[in-house]
Amino acid sequence: MGRTDMPQTADWTRVVTHATVATCAPSPAPYGLSENSAVALAGERIAWVGPATELPAVGDGVEVIDAAGALLTPGLIDCHTHLVFAGNRAQEFELRQQGASYEQIARSGGGILATVTATREASEEQLLALALQRARVLMAEGITCVEIKSGYGLDLESELKLLRIARRVGLELPLAVHATLLAAHTCPPEFSGRADDYIDLVVRTILPAAAEAGLVDSVDAFCERIAFSPTQVRRLFDAARRLDIPVRLHAEQLSNLHGAELAAGMGALSADHLEYLDEAGAAAMARSGTVAVLLPGAFYYLGETRRPPVELLRRECVPIAIGSDFNPGSSPLLSLRLAMNMACTLFGLTPEEALCGVTRNAARALGTLEERGTIEVGKLADLVLWDTSHPAELAAEFGTASPSRIYRAGQLLG
Ligand SMILES: [Zn+2]
Repeated sequence: MGRTDMPQTADWTRVVTHATVATCAPSPAPYGLSENSAVALAGERIAWVGPATELPAVGDGVEVIDAAGALLTPGLIDCHTHLVFAGNRAQEFELRQQGASYEQIARSGGGILATVTATREASEEQLLALALQRARVLMAEGITCVEIKSGYGLDLESELKLLRIARRVGLELPLAVHATLLAAHTCPPEFSGRADDYIDLVVRTILPAAAEAGLVDSVDAFCERIAFSPTQVRRLFDAARRLDIPVRLHAEQLSNLHGAELAAGMGALSADHLEYLDEAGAAAMARSGTVAVLLPGAFYYLGETRRPPVELLRRECVPIAIGSDFNPGSSPLLSLRLAMNMACTLFGLTPEEALCGVTRNAARALGTLEERGTIEVGKLADLVLWDTSHPAELAAEFGTASPSRIYRAGQLLG
């Protein structure tokens, strides 16, 4: 464990002791697990990690929490969400279950463009209220950091509105937010049949304006026959790189356009979905350190049958993360815990891979591994104390073990 030899106990503000600590840091022990351990906090940072028996004496001003064997993990990170939108697609679900085809649903005004219309019409305050409500649901599950994508605005004004809301969620709640510009989600109706012209608008107008306003932590696109081609994605990513903004990609969800290879070749933080990923794509991701973000919610909800090549990812040592992919159309799943369980039951991950997929590897997918994702000295004290004692339970069950205490940057949430 990452113990320091020079504990500055004078700076310590809190100590959690007698905990079962899953550091989620690379370690010979599964989960980085150790029983009867202690973690000391100095303000917003982790100052000391080690066996409770070696905990130095602390002054009267330090709050000491006796965890009585309970599990302490890093705060969970949902590294793929579409959290900001208006309306819902329940009626579309109803039609689908009654046997309607996608074409019929699209013709009756359903599909992603229904969400775009509702989102464009909603005010910033209405959308913020919806996003805050959803973010609070995630936080109650122990999520301390979330990625939020735009992508239901698809014009300059609306995309900026969604990104501002993402930022405001992070200001109004004790939740770290990574804002992603996903203007290249789908072609808006006013550009129907003119995807290249729409990419022009994104590259020349939307991206520069969003970057200028400081609203973009990464740039994403949907690379698929029903969305954007690899050539169009490359143009967008070239523009992002000129602005020094990292990229990520929805790739290989429904077919293999070699999007993951393209993204990895451009140093992408992550490639997401990946059901159709091939060996060349996985090898390229391994070379560039691009994280594979698996999204079992969409696989489940769309009734897909092709699973992402988990064995191949393991063999190539590609880090695997898991996201909820929360969105109204293909993954209306506001539970990262359920996504962890599905990653195990549907994709064959182990509970340890599932937990590391929402901590260490999720942090890496957001480019924030130096600050978050593991319990190690120097990192932000984003910590969750659970009413369970073994980390396997976090993936084995859902709707059960819940956080008893959540710390965000050293502050107790309550
Ligand atoms: Zn997505």
